[in-house]
Amino acid sequence: MVKKLLESAVDKGAEYCDIRKEKWYRTILYLKDGVPETVVQGEEEGAMVRVLYGNGWGYVGTADLDILDKTIDRAFQMAKNSHKLRKQETGLADVDILQEKVKMPMKENFIDVGPEEKLEFLRDVEDRLKKDFVNSTDIRYRDLLVKKEIITSEGAHIEMEIPRLVTYMIITGKSDTIQMATQATGGTGGFELTENAYDDVETVLDMLKSLLEAKTPPSGKMPVVMDPHLTGVFSHEAFGHAAEGDLVASGNSCLKGKLGEKVASDIVTIKDDPTMDGYGSFPFDDEGTKAGNRVLVKDGILNDFILDRENAWKLDMEPNGGARAEDFRVKPLVRMSNTIMEPGDMSFEELIEDIDKGIYAKSTSGGQVSPAQGTFQFNAQVAYLIENGEIVKPLRNVSFNGFTLETLQNIVGISKHTDTGIGHCGKGQSASVTDGGADVLISEVTVGGRE
Ligand SMILES: [Zn+2]
Repeated sequence: MVKKLLESAVDKGAEYCDIRKEKWYRTILYLKDGVPETVVQGEEEGAMVRVLYGNGWGYVGTADLDILDKTIDRAFQMAKNSHKLRKQETGLADVDILQEKVKMPMKENFIDVGPEEKLEFLRDVEDRLKKDFVNSTDIRYRDLLVKKEIITSEGAHIEMEIPRLVTYMIITGKSDTIQMATQATGGTGGFELTENAYDDVETVLDMLKSLLEAKTPPSGKMPVVMDPHLTGVFSHEAFGHAAEGDLVASGNSCLKGKLGEKVASDIVTIKDDPTMDGYGSFPFDDEGTKAGNRVLVKDGILNDFILDRENAWKLDMEPNGGARAEDFRVKPLVRMSNTIMEPGDMSFEELIEDIDKGIYAKSTSGGQVSPAQGTFQFNAQVAYLIENGEIVKPLRNVSFNGFTLETLQNIVGISKHTDTGIGHCGKGQSASVTDGGADVLISEVTVGGRE
């Protein structure tokens, strides 16, 4: 019946029409200094209709699935009006028209785990974080099962279930000033993912301990080794956003026109892969395109962009499953998934042995990037001074900045040790992502201390 409604829009002159129905099952719990709070618990559902008429789009979201005919009609009218105003030509690149049903697995279904047991898990993590140097703890749990159905006027019909779970740990301590360390763990899967949070308890405690002892950093140009988490954040923020097809097509990326050119040192390969195990995994994107691995940089050469159907059309490339929407209220945008810089063959010791004076920077506590200018600025969560090939002392308030492409060219060593981190990428909408890589040595970066 939905298919008939979509076809009727095409009969009236639309080029294309699709609907994405979503049902959400979600729990968000906080445990802050021993005080539990249920932030969200429940279900909701709705749908987003998209209509392309000429060069104009109409997008209408609704939480009332009984009025889909009216919703499609409104989107059709909106597309028609937008076509009148829009001079620029647009279209959709072809994709395989698929009818498939995929359920991403949960070993332990979190829907069947009661709120008491989830809270018990948070209390257990809190107990392990209670150390004499920890002043306050804030632990956040979030699980979300999304059941989606995507139906298009071209005949595609995708049904998928994607379960995701994440735990955040935020701890603070005090020496001369208050310091904070954070860590997030999780992925695509069920309640079994909470087990991984226990491994990260030590990591976050170590970071806070280092921060409490840390000194202010030197500044100037020097070699910097990024740990796998920071390498992941760099790959996502500084490079990945610039590889998003919408930014490339609209001229807002420093990578525009550089396909096939050398953009990084030969040892650098960066992929964005929704099919690997991660927090940003999915079998199909929100246009119903089958997800595949995007090798964005291959041995230093710019090889691909992340593309939805419209931007693939604009750039005359193949769509590769790059369209993601936060929920049924919004249209899909070009987004990353699991962004990884591939490991190399060096040990950590080999990586730092020739550094006279440099920085080992771990994880991040924010920063800024400009995909158009190709510039970045990151704050390391914690860092260490390297002197004469050895780690000597912890540093705090370390920030560094530079030009993304120049920095990618300055990568001179990559370790074989890999790790990943998870987070939410903001681009007007939130998207769950993983990013990661190995320890990466950049021969020269501008390091600055900040207060
Ligand atoms: Zn991002």
